[in-house]
Amino acid sequence: MFDGLSSRLSDVLDKLTRRGALSEGDVAEAMREIRRALIEADVALDVVRSFTDKVRNRAVGADVLKSVTPGQMVVKIVNDVLIETLGSDAQTIDLEAVPPVPILMVGLQGSGKTTTTAKIAKRLTDRNKKKVLLASLDTRRPAAMEQLAILGRQVGVEVLPIVAGQSAVQIARRAMDAGRFGGFDVVMLDTAGRTTVDEALMAEAAEVKAATNPHEVLLVADALTGQDAVNTARAFDNRLGITGIVLTRLDGDGRGGAALSMRAVTGKPIKLVGVGEKVDQLEDFHPQRIANRILGMGDIVSLVEKAAESIDAEKAAKMAARMQKGAFDLDDLREQLLQMEKIGGMSGVLGMLPGMGKIKDQIAGANLDDKVFKRQRAIIESMTPKERRNPDILKASRKRRIAAGSGTSPEQINRLLKMHRQMADMMKSMGGAKKGALGKMASMFGM
Ligand code: GDP
Repeated sequence: MFDGLSSRLSDVLDKLTRRGALSEGDVAEAMREIRRALIEADVALDVVRSFTDKVRNRAVGADVLKSVTPGQMVVKIVNDVLIETLGSDAQTIDLEAVPPVPILMVGLQGSGKTTTTAKIAKRLTDRNKKKVLLASLDTRRPAAMEQLAILGRQVGVEVLPIVAGQSAVQIARRAMDAGRFGGFDVVMLDTAGRTTVDEALMAEAAEVKAATNPHEVLLVADALTGQDAVNTARAFDNRLGITGIVLTRLDGDGRGGAALSMRAVTGKPIKLVGVGEKVDQLEDFHPQRIANRILGMGDIVSLVEKAAESIDAEKAAKMAARMQKGAFDLDDLREQLLQMEKIGGMSGVLGMLPGMGKIKDQIAGANLDDKVFKRQRAIIESMTPKERRNPDILKASRKRRIAAGSGTSPEQINRLLKMHRQMADMMKSMGGAKKGALGKMASMFGM
């Protein structure tokens, strides 16, 4: 996500980092580039203006001109202003109220509202140990009610039974009663969506709000719709007074404009983000992480976190010990490939490292993508345990068998073997030189 903005900003900032001192002219040039990049990223115009104004005001100052590395200073300022624009601290759903706490879900049809409702219910159940009741208020679309019922079953959360002929307000009241009598902590009300903001939609949601006095009014908005999502947010906020935003489809190739504009336009925090269709693909919104990615200055924190999540510490320790002895066979390589796939493959890793945005593009262009890891793993998995331990015995006939088994060619097998030899040699030489440092590094990368 945010590739466009990220590489545009890094182009500008690369230029600045190469200069000794920062003149007003440099700042002006940088601002022009940043403004263009933000507009291309579909950031709302007034947000672009206030963003660049803020950066300029802080950049053209004594501090910057006196600074040893003006480029870094500007990066820091852009980063700070990005975070301010995105919202300074991560905010989660507020449940501090007398149970059952009503949460009203609003948004356009297709924004991911129903899916997000189920995702939040699952999170509140699993993490917060809350007893959640779901209710669909979409009286015009039986399919939407059915969808919520299916999702509810999938995440193991109770869904209010459908009673034909009831209005949205009647259902909402019934849900609150059921919540009270059933000892629920939270009642989530999934309102009807329309394809565009219309008065009937707003009036109905406002009526439900008045009847249930929700503690949170969460707007679900699709990040891929950029400016439209921002306009939607403004309309919903003006009419209903939202308390927070859930931005969905951040996993798509969103230009990032929506995330950047949302907070500035509505003044309401982005509380959660949807990063996929699955019910567990919901994450906290971390302004710093998003700002880092937008800048392409690297997200070391999330790289380390992600790596830590997926790495089995015991395996890592074992492998580090083997490597220190200079042993690194094809089973070890297979383990490495698996770890790479888990943390999002090459593009996942590179995207989080400083200045790697462009290299990532080149790698994708050279077709050196995650499929390569999968293919290499398939090759190793088509070998016998003996072959994995001792690749030297791999002669032509064995290679043909492995190629057939893994859907590859003997040339691809040779390339893999060559890579393995190089890696094994490198590890052997490193193992001799710096045991302590190598062990640390190896465990960090799950080797
Ligand atoms: P609603 O009409 O607003 O209730 O939207 P739905 O919940 O039915 O979602 C519409 C489609 O978007 C479904 O296919 C969802 O699986 C998908 N979707 C929802 N959230 C996300 C997300 O964060 N990422 C991706 N890639 N798809 C999502």
